[in-house]
Amino acid sequence: VIELGQPEHSVVTTCAYCGVGCSFKAEMKGETVVRMTPWKDGQANDGHSCIKGRFAWSYATHKDRITKPMIRDRITDPWREVSWDEAIGHAAARFKAIQAKHGKDSVGGITSSRCTNEETYLVQKLIRAAFGTNNVDTCARVCHSPTGYGLGQTFGTSAGTQTFRSVRHADVILVIGANPSDAHPVFASRLKRRVRQGAKLVVIDPRQIDLVSSPHVKAQHHLPLKPGTNVAMISALAHVVVTEGLVDEAYVAERCDTKSFNEWRDFVARPENSPEALEAATGVPAAEVRAAARLYAAGPNSAIYYGLGVTEHAQGSTMVMGIANLAMACGMVGREGVGVNPLRGQNNVQGSCDMGSFPHELPGYRHISDSTVRGQFEAAWGVTLDPEPGLRIPNMFEAALDGSFRGLYCQGEDIVQSDPNTQHVAAALSAMDCIVVQDIFLNETAKYAHVLLPGSSFLEKDGTFTNAERRISRVRQVMRPLAGLADWEVTQKLANALGYPMAYRHPEEIMAEIAALTPSFAGVSYAKLDRLGSVQWPCNESTDEAGTAIMHREKFVRGKGRFIITQYVATDEKVTRRFPLLLTTGRILSQYNVGAQTRRTPNNQWHDEDRLELHPHDAQERGIRDGDWVGIESRAGQTVLRAVVSERMQPGVVYTTFHFPESGANVITTDSSDWATNCPEYKVTAVQVLPVSQP
Ligand code: SF4
Repeated sequence: VIELGQPEHSVVTTCAYCGVGCSFKAEMKGETVVRMTPWKDGQANDGHSCIKGRFAWSYATHKDRITKPMIRDRITDPWREVSWDEAIGHAAARFKAIQAKHGKDSVGGITSSRCTNEETYLVQKLIRAAFGTNNVDTCARVCHSPTGYGLGQTFGTSAGTQTFRSVRHADVILVIGANPSDAHPVFASRLKRRVRQGAKLVVIDPRQIDLVSSPHVKAQHHLPLKPGTNVAMISALAHVVVTEGLVDEAYVAERCDTKSFNEWRDFVARPENSPEALEAATGVPAAEVRAAARLYAAGPNSAIYYGLGVTEHAQGSTMVMGIANLAMACGMVGREGVGVNPLRGQNNVQGSCDMGSFPHELPGYRHISDSTVRGQFEAAWGVTLDPEPGLRIPNMFEAALDGSFRGLYCQGEDIVQSDPNTQHVAAALSAMDCIVVQDIFLNETAKYAHVLLPGSSFLEKDGTFTNAERRISRVRQVMRPLAGLADWEVTQKLANALGYPMAYRHPEEIMAEIAALTPSFAGVSYAKLDRLGSVQWPCNESTDEAGTAIMHREKFVRGKGRFIITQYVATDEKVTRRFPLLLTTGRILSQYNVGAQTRRTPNNQWHDEDRLELHPHDAQERGIRDGDWVGIESRAGQTVLRAVVSERMQPGVVYTTFHFPESGANVITTDSSDWATNCPEYKVTAVQVLPVSQP
């Protein structure tokens, strides 16, 4: 503040890190941000913030920012700076040539959860209307796609049921596979406040995370299950509810599909689903599981919050459905203080999913095979849409390796660092003829690109983000795009160069088109957002003016809630003599995901390398001391990290983050994935850890 001077004016905008979606005042001197102050009227954060939103914004003007478009013929050639028109013309010509030779489905695109709703809508429109293919996907593929599938199957829609404020009414809070203190800090503060007021807390996580025991809160029950056994755990909890007469029979009779409930009840009541029978699989004493299940069922208001520790598994979708089953059986959906709440990772991953970034869904989660819905988009866009779903990201990689997929438009997503099995991703990208990367930095994926289009940071954007509680908030431009064009303008120029006309003059016009074509957004407009601050979808003529705070109040979106049988199947990723430990991954407070932003801010001083946490027993067995360098090897690859010996780990389980490209945690994760959605199994990798000399 002393260096930059005192602010002269401010602009209210939305944080570009996690799915809490905190509102901030960007306090300015001219076009320079002096500081970011949490906005007291922000409905997601009520004036609170964390060290990412508050302090980690200077990456926006970092010297590494790419501000000139660049092209090259081969990835071994040096980059050549060119004009916007030349770069976009070059990209369009290469995409057209690929499609002319290999067919329209030989190209595709990836939308960004860092970008606005308007920008992701435009990218999926470009892929579908200008490229003429449904080969569009988003980073939700590698995080919450099982949420989309699982909640869609059981409740009828792919979103959290509550507002963050709803936790104030919870009597019991069940946190599964999430570490909100690090990953969703402002929501964690709300949760801890409620626990200090007397709510009971149950944590299901392999690690002793902050919520288990900290100076601020202590969980009543910590169920430290073995990685990969989530579905066994949810079956054991459900078994207790069903066999001890804890089902909310009146709720189930009124709100749920009886046939599916009866089948599910018979299934979970089987002796093999008891906590005692599953104790060997989960590693958690049956008595603890029974106590936790009784606590949850007793409520009276019990809320579930879950994270990527649920979804990033071979049975990720199964576990999401298991959670939904448990909540319905106990009558814990449809009012304040209860619900099933995925803690979405990225600032706009909810929005990128809402906007039709999946190969099988148009905006608003409507299947591409639905001819009525498709007809509405065809009329509005002036094209004929393919009724067949396109390729998911992992399928794009496979198709690249067999030669049928040859061109990719990747906006704001560093797939080389973030996706599992880096060697496989790199091989797929190397096999393509044209990769266009649109990003603010020369990221790891750009090493394989032929065209680099400068992206814009959140401070340069105008539009909206949608947070994990379905809250749509305005992102307001604080400074002009450093490269001269906003991301939506770049996409529009590319569409025009491909021969598909787009002529938006402002993101507000894009939102008007989204509202006209998407029933859950029909009541969303910039004028309303400016007046109300934010709204929550569904927001239309049948909801309150500000949309829908609590979902499934009278009935589920699909009508009757549907129970699904969730059979536990042990993951293929098993420990062996060669790989005797299980690696799980996550984030830490000061850094964010691949670290492209936070590593270029003062936050880097608090955590400047990825480290490997392991239990003292495992460390001692291998002669590893705290701070030693260790080599980690899996079936996919190997890397070197510094060791942290910690009682937070359970014996046999090790943990690391993936914020630094040089340590490459995803070099060791495998391409095992969720059966329903291909979400990678980041949370379970069998590894060996041994001491090594300093790299
Ligand atoms: Fe930003 Fe999330 Fe921190 Fe809020 S909690 S300031 S949205 S990173």
